[in-house]
Amino acid sequence: MNEYADLLIIGAGPAGMSAALAAAPSGARIVVLDDNPLPGGQIWRDGPNAHLPAQARRLRERLEACHSIHRHPATRVIASPGAQQLLVENDERGWLIRYDKLILCTGARELLLPFPGWTLPGVTGAGGLQALIKGGVPVHGQRVVIAGSGPLLLASAATAKQHGAQVLRIAEQASSQAVAGFAAQLPRWPGKLLQSFSLFDRHYRTATHVLAALGTDRVEGVRVQQHGKVVEMACDRLACGFGLIPNIQLAQALGCAIAGQAIAVDAWQASSRADHYAAGECTGFGGSELALVEGAIAGYAAVGNQDAARHLWPRRARWQGFAKALNHAFALDPRLTSLAQPDTLVCRCEDVPYSALVGHADWRSAKLASRCGMGACQGRVCGGAVQQLFGWQPSAPRPPFSPARLETLMSLDDTPPA
Ligand SMILES: Cc1cc2nc3c(=O)[nH]c(=O)nc-3n(C[C@H](O)[C@H](O)[C@H](O)COP(=O)(O)OP(=O)(O)OC[C@H]3O[C@@H](n4cnc5c(N)ncnc54)[C@H](O)[C@@H]3O)c2cc1C
Repeated sequence: MNEYADLLIIGAGPAGMSAALAAAPSGARIVVLDDNPLPGGQIWRDGPNAHLPAQARRLRERLEACHSIHRHPATRVIASPGAQQLLVENDERGWLIRYDKLILCTGARELLLPFPGWTLPGVTGAGGLQALIKGGVPVHGQRVVIAGSGPLLLASAATAKQHGAQVLRIAEQASSQAVAGFAAQLPRWPGKLLQSFSLFDRHYRTATHVLAALGTDRVEGVRVQQHGKVVEMACDRLACGFGLIPNIQLAQALGCAIAGQAIAVDAWQASSRADHYAAGECTGFGGSELALVEGAIAGYAAVGNQDAARHLWPRRARWQGFAKALNHAFALDPRLTSLAQPDTLVCRCEDVPYSALVGHADWRSAKLASRCGMGACQGRVCGGAVQQLFGWQPSAPRPPFSPARLETLMSLDDTPPA
């Protein structure tokens, strides 16, 4: 059966939860949809080995207690068949949700850059390793190397150590000056300063980046460049994340303007499309505190409570300052885009090597010639990589946005035009 929402929120991470709770007192019928089974997004991902902080548990309880908020967990967006409506699907059925206002809180995903050996079993993203561990994958006694850039490396290392892994190296590509400059600013955000003490690890090295994962059937070691010297070490797992890229595919499909790599929003978190808002990391990377306050602003603004939204602008500015410092300190060294060799796979779904992409003018041309980005992940992994490697802007996705059942797709034929 089809459904109506005064306010539809896509994504139940910090931004989506906060948006729903801000909008709830208005009495609007709010629908929150997320492709994960439980709310929390990336930072508060649940699982058999996850330990949710009190803040996440409280938000979840408030969400559940609120009768005007209707949650659809484990639900994917399949298509946008007309104005102000989305076709969605869960494990049991597909249905249409019509909405008056929409807030996109689709978060971000890890940037994975190709390097020799990166497709070997045992090589994952840094956040990917964390998600696997929370989901129950055992790492006890395993030797782990974590590489790439940004604070997620330390968060991932902390999770691995809590579950008995031996973290041999945390290789941060940023220079020691950049990291020290960032650390010097942390007293402006005392909570973050405290967090940095708890995450500190003696195996952290700056100006260090991965060159290759070594092994035949699975990863057996890693070659890194550390302060200009090439070092090899044996390991059982290598987790590499080069920062985050906003999830903008749905926004692109809905016709919202994109600025750089993120959804463009104004002071009310409104996108370029009327009645469509965006909050959290789909509008740029800034951490959960920024996502929470942006979500609240979007939630208030969407239900017409502009005063409450405006009241939060100073708090947002404070966390935007943090985001700016973070993004400046951990900007990627351009040398990281030349790690791939001619035979290194860039698109692992369609087995497309780097050499097959060189010389194309844009992603469309490369796609047509090589099928890059046309496999199961629909460019979610290689799209970010080719943008970094070649500067190609990924095009808007075409429906179905996720693999869908035939019955769901057939219901599109019954959809009356908007
Ligand atoms: C893999 C990973 C691990 C991270 N771990 C940490 C950490 O340990 N500590 C930390 O401080 N920060 C971490 N971060 C950063 C963290 O993402 C943010 O600080 C915070 O979670 C952002 O909140 P958000 O609400 O903007 O997005 P998210 O938390 O990313 O929430 C977005 C939600 O929307 C869902 N979604 C997206 N698109 C759709 C769609 N089309 N249909 C349905 N649902 C959709 C996603 O599944 C997700 O549940 C991590 C990021 C990533 C990518």
